[in-house]
Amino acid sequence: MVPMHPQPRVGEIFSSWLVRLSLANGLPLHSFYSGLLRYRQAIWNRDIDRHPPISFLECLNHATKVPISQLNELTLVRYEGLFYDELSATGVVPWLLPLGIYHRTHKLAGMQFCPLCLKEDSNPYYRLKWRVGLIVLCDVHNCVLVDRCPKCNSPVIFHRHGIGRGKYLHPNCLKYCYSCNHNLSTVEPTYPDWPDLGSQSLLERLIREFEFCPWQGFPVGADCPIPFFIGLRVILNLLNGRFGGRIQTSICSELPVGVVQSSALHFEYLDTARRLHLLLCACWLIQGWPDRFVLSCRNAGLSRSRILEVPDASPYWLETVLSGHLDSRTYSPSQEEFLQAAAYLVSKDRQLTTQGIMEVLGVQRDAARRMIKIWLPHS
Ligand SMILES: [Zn+2]
Ligand SMILES: [Zn+2]
Repeated sequence: MVPMHPQPRVGEIFSSWLVRLSLANGLPLHSFYSGLLRYRQAIWNRDIDRHPPISFLECLNHATKVPISQLNELTLVRYEGLFYDELSATGVVPWLLPLGIYHRTHKLAGMQFCPLCLKEDSNPYYRLKWRVGLIVLCDVHNCVLVDRCPKCNSPVIFHRHGIGRGKYLHPNCLKYCYSCNHNLSTVEPTYPDWPDLGSQSLLERLIREFEFCPWQGFPVGADCPIPFFIGLRVILNLLNGRFGGRIQTSICSELPVGVVQSSALHFEYLDTARRLHLLLCACWLIQGWPDRFVLSCRNAGLSRSRILEVPDASPYWLETVLSGHLDSRTYSPSQEEFLQAAAYLVSKDRQLTTQGIMEVLGVQRDAARRMIKIWLPHS
């Protein structure tokens, strides 16, 4: 057993605990792991929160008596079955923020933080969920997470505090920027500037409840988390991609918000501010599912084939809407055609009913109902 073995804190990420463990024993990382624990493999030139080697977990278990199952829960394996089926050791994983590892440093801002959480922690530590693309707000303080040191723009690379000899290693040093020593717990918190309460509350709920069991389904009724998150990512890619400007313009006609330029980057490579904006747009679109989404796509002139960059990539809850309402391969009357049909029925002294629209336009009952609901909401 090592002399000091601080227990992992609630929601702590594995790497944060590794650094705290070494600092609590007053040693830099290399002296602690290679010297004291005699673990001679490289630790920091990989994303250690993704599948740490079992020999390392056994070594830690031996030194601290923390069970291996509990150690695994601190790693990103915890989110298997939630955001992704299986966590691969390398490569792009949906929803997982990449670190851009280069030797023992990180080029990308894959670790976010809440300054208020760091401030309130008696011994500051980093949370596992701060590595997830969905988590753009703090679930305790509702402020926007921060992904870089505001003073020097460095990503958060807390393990670098423990690299190098002769450094003063305070156990609380995780709250400081590794590069310029700025106190990250003093960063002024910011809050979302978004004009629609419904979509913002939905995003806050998603961030708070993504691990809830039983799964909530949220507005689309998806009965387990993976299909929900796959579909949400399709919508985010739509908003972020080539046709994103069009659908965002359609949102702007309803809400006083700006349009962000399309980007060739994966969602996970975007900064927190941009992910926040796209997530709020997506939450706005899925409210009142599927009417608002269908109408916005129609207004933007987007059909199923344009929305799906990769065919068959959409889960059933999204696919039924795309093929039922936005598939250009089947006939779908325009708003003008619908209004002409409605005027025709009125001119013939017939009632404007679902049955009437079905007969005149030759569409299915569901489609007729939807058209009346969307285009004649007060009838
Ligand atoms: Zn917080
Ligand atoms: Zn800094």
